[in-house]
Amino acid sequence: MFPVAPGVHRIPLPMPTDGLVAVNVYAIEDGERLVLVDGGWAVPEARARLDEALAALDADVRVVSRILVTHAHRDHYTLAIGLRRELGTRVGLGAGEAPSLAALTGEWRGSLQAQRDALLDAGAGALAAELEALGGAGDPPDYYEAPDEWLEAGRIELADRVLEVVPTPGHTRGHVVFRDAAGGILFAGDHVLPHITPSIGFEPVPTDSPLRDFLSSLAAIRRLADTALLPAHGTPGPSVHTRIDELVAHHDARLDQMRSAVGDLGRATAAEVAAAVSWTRRQRSFAELDVFNRMLAVTETVAHLTVLVESGVLRRSGGRPVSYSTARGGDTAGG
Ligand SMILES: [Zn+2]
Repeated sequence: MFPVAPGVHRIPLPMPTDGLVAVNVYAIEDGERLVLVDGGWAVPEARARLDEALAALDADVRVVSRILVTHAHRDHYTLAIGLRRELGTRVGLGAGEAPSLAALTGEWRGSLQAQRDALLDAGAGALAAELEALGGAGDPPDYYEAPDEWLEAGRIELADRVLEVVPTPGHTRGHVVFRDAAGGILFAGDHVLPHITPSIGFEPVPTDSPLRDFLSSLAAIRRLADTALLPAHGTPGPSVHTRIDELVAHHDARLDQMRSAVGDLGRATAAEVAAAVSWTRRQRSFAELDVFNRMLAVTETVAHLTVLVESGVLRRSGGRPVSYSTARGGDTAGG
């Protein structure tokens, strides 16, 4: 448990996978009560860790009046629902997550169905089959329930601070951040992360162009006065603007690499483009990634190629698999 601003405490909770180490839950003092930003992942070790952290604040989970969740991914949402079941705590989630919640709580097809379909479009049928063979690799549906409140853009007034709810679609379609302008802090969820670039559109019902959504959301936050960054993963930093500039530069470079790869290949599926560029901060080859990360790599590639099609740089031809080529008269530089 770490104090990060007056009346705000960061509580890293464990996650049961080998990828990210922890998800940050932020406890905000609100008079006699506490408000949490994000809930954590509903696993016993996270639930126990939360108790320990709140005890260090001379508090316990019963004083938590409300949990504001940035998006519906399981590491942020499921423990919020767990606490609601246990204590009746009110849970808020961005209104834009409604289609995903409907899919997750409706007839259960597995949360990776949209990704398997996308892989077939991308020319990655073998990978889709590999993913299928993993079976129910998606979220368990049992911790998915609708929130008590669907959060729209607007203000949440606490005892001595105002949180502005700002929709930031991209990482997921209904992602929101919470901005305390007077306090100079942004609870950024996974929209702006300090050390990694968030995955784009990995959700049950992705939008047509999740990267376009994400870049627009980065630009929208960049237009607001700068604040300190309180991310959902990793350590806080002094400037949201600085990190947004780095994220935009990263995606510009990726767009360039993928445009070049299509130029080199002539006509290519997203799977072929994904195999032609390197991945992760360690510049790994596509083949070195595990099945889950290869799936993410292909869907990220599709997201970038879609933006290049929208901006007129590439042309997309229909059918399954979809293929991409350089637009006639378009810029073919970089090959
Ligand atoms: Zn996350």
